Amino acid sequence: MKPLKLFNLLLNAFGEQGWWPVTEPNAVKPSYKKRAGLTKRQKFEVCIGAILAQNTSWKNVEKAIENLSRNGLLSVKAINSCSQKKLALLIRSSGYFNQKSVRLKRFAAHIVSCYNGSIEKMLSKPVEKLREELLSLHGIGPETADSILLYAAFKPVFVVDAYTKRIAERVFAKKFHSYAELQAFFESGIPKSVACYNEFHALLVELGKNYCSKNPKCSECPINKNCYYYKQ
Ligand code: SF4
Repeated sequence: MKPLKLFNLLLNAFGEQGWWPVTEPNAVKPSYKKRAGLTKRQKFEVCIGAILAQNTSWKNVEKAIENLSRNGLLSVKAINSCSQKKLALLIRSSGYFNQKSVRLKRFAAHIVSCYNGSIEKMLSKPVEKLREELLSLHGIGPETADSILLYAAFKPVFVVDAYTKRIAERVFAKKFHSYAELQAFFESGIPKSVACYNEFHALLVELGKNYCSKNPKCSECPINKNCYYYKQ
């Protein structure tokens, strides 16, 4: 099977996922929904969510985002001027909250000092330059940087996570030795489009969460007939 076939099978099985979940104006919780674009606040929220999502489940991130939202802290300026102690308390549910509060504050401070507080100015940079810049920031690795590039900046960059690796190694019966190798495998096998990359990553997360876990539920999995691991 090729990546494109996997994409189509997953889309048929699960439908569109409406990623990345963000908070609507007048709401406090992020919601999944197909959106034509994002507001400045929502783009920043994606960046915050990508940092908070490191090593935890989305459910825990959602609570942290809701707290930030209720406290008027979903903006560059507000995070930059909030004390680290207060921030850490509000994002407690996301785990590693002291570390993450430092990361959030440094991220916001970077936007303030280099872009006069404008997230949009930063996100409009060419993809390679922006990726390099994000990776140079404290606590931002490839998965977080690529999530920001794809879901906040709408750049065609495929996001790889632990689910992607596990699923790809099982479904395609291949070993992947690095993030870059896995990313190149998917990027070369599907159309280079933000919409396709957006949906595919979300679908892989859905498959990984519900079926292709450490102990996979292969007999119930909607793509098992096409999966090498299951056939073996
Ligand atoms: S059949 Fe099993 S191994 Fe293959 S994708 Fe589904 S859950 Fe994962």
